[in-house]
Amino acid sequence: MTDAAQATRILIRGGRVYDHDGDVHQPALADILVDGERIERIGPNLPAGDAQVIDAAGKLVVPGFINAHYHSHDVMAKGLFEEMPFDIWTLHSNPANYGPRALEEVRLRTLIGAAEMLRNGITTVQDFLTLVPQDEAMVDTVLSAYEEAGIRVVFAVAARDRAALDIAPFIPKELPEAVRKRIAGSDRKAADELGFIAAQIKRRGLRPTPRQTWALAPSAPQRCSQELLEGIAELSRRHGLPVFTHVYETRIQAAAARQQPSAPSLLDVLARAGLMNERINIVHGVWLTPRDIAQIAEAKARVVHNPISNLKLKSGVAPIAELHRAGVDIALGCDNYSCAETQNIFIAMRMLCLLPAVTDPEPHLVNAAYALKAATLGGARAVGLGGQIGALKTGTLADLTILDLNEPTFVPFNSAARQVVFSETGRAVETVLVGGRPVVRGGKLTTVDEAALAEAVQAIAPEFRADAEKLAGRNADLTDHLLNANREAWKVPLEFERYVGRGAK
Ligand SMILES: [Zn+2]
Repeated sequence: MTDAAQATRILIRGGRVYDHDGDVHQPALADILVDGERIERIGPNLPAGDAQVIDAAGKLVVPGFINAHYHSHDVMAKGLFEEMPFDIWTLHSNPANYGPRALEEVRLRTLIGAAEMLRNGITTVQDFLTLVPQDEAMVDTVLSAYEEAGIRVVFAVAARDRAALDIAPFIPKELPEAVRKRIAGSDRKAADELGFIAAQIKRRGLRPTPRQTWALAPSAPQRCSQELLEGIAELSRRHGLPVFTHVYETRIQAAAARQQPSAPSLLDVLARAGLMNERINIVHGVWLTPRDIAQIAEAKARVVHNPISNLKLKSGVAPIAELHRAGVDIALGCDNYSCAETQNIFIAMRMLCLLPAVTDPEPHLVNAAYALKAATLGGARAVGLGGQIGALKTGTLADLTILDLNEPTFVPFNSAARQVVFSETGRAVETVLVGGRPVVRGGKLTTVDEAALAEAVQAIAPEFRADAEKLAGRNADLTDHLLNANREAWKVPLEFERYVGRGAK
């Protein structure tokens, strides 16, 4: 599709238009007039004029969903792992352990991830990408693949200069030096990490394309030096960029932080570097204390909740209801393929609502309408596009998803919010627009030949699988040590628990 074609006017006629502030169960019928990349008007019986008409009768129009946490580096590892606690999974999935990947593989993996997201109504993704090798050709390949798919991307190159696994403090001292060395990895230089990221932002500009912006992604406070974190804070200030960082994803990270000589909390580490502000997104936050939660609320920072990876990697359940009660803004992520297997925000919304009940039987306010806000408005604020995406309003970017209400999940149609969150799987996604451009029609991508893409990905999959098998072979003698170290770390007493019933033992 040419740029001229993208600029055409589109009238989405006769759908139920979801309004976060309106009737979330029976949204009113309305037309949406899209001019170029933005919504020009929403109202009844708008004249079509020269606009292309999309018939939305019997359909529900919702704001495009925002996947606020994702790593495209391990799309090819989909379905390869299970029953691995976080630190063992890390050893098997870390891109650094796979060596450099071919640009064509990078292009294909980016496309297949984007394709699944678009088919599931996700119009914006925050890609927190570890590049191996960290070079310009990789950046350009990823950005051009996203542009080819037509999804909006808030792109970040992951930064870290301390290589050791989070579990390193719990590795028994008597382990042979060679084994310890492989677990520790090798450090990198803060200046190199910062220099590469700053150079890419300068080279491609703050908006590489109208659908692309940047974020910053220090891997985790314990994996970065103070120098690196301060450099990230400076880049964030200078360019107004959102920051994403993994914090207290696992119990081991919480236990390890308490073993440091001065025992600063990881949030204090971020605060010292100048990062605890409204631009930061605390990714996971499973093992946050009440003090941490208050600190996040005070800073007007956000939490990006990734329920599926937290459960699949045995990390525990994030304190969702407590965060909500404290007024902390929550966004949702589907996380990466090697630990969550699917990019489906319907599942993430459902889990957001359901998980608080594992520890608290009281009715709570994390309901379906709230989950829809987290997956749209919360995500928009997280990626630095608040007010631009996340709600269907005059003047906002035309990022939207049209669901077919004749699919069994919506029959009978009793509540838009509840059936989107508790019933829908992605099958009802019929049309998707990103920046006014139809990228899914009739449940199929318009931008990419899906059959050809599938064939190309299947063709390169055996090579990746062979590399993963080789890596598993190299890791085989480490996994028992790591599982034992996990068991040691799980014994370290904390003042709270995020595993159901464990605290009661
Ligand atoms: Zn992550």
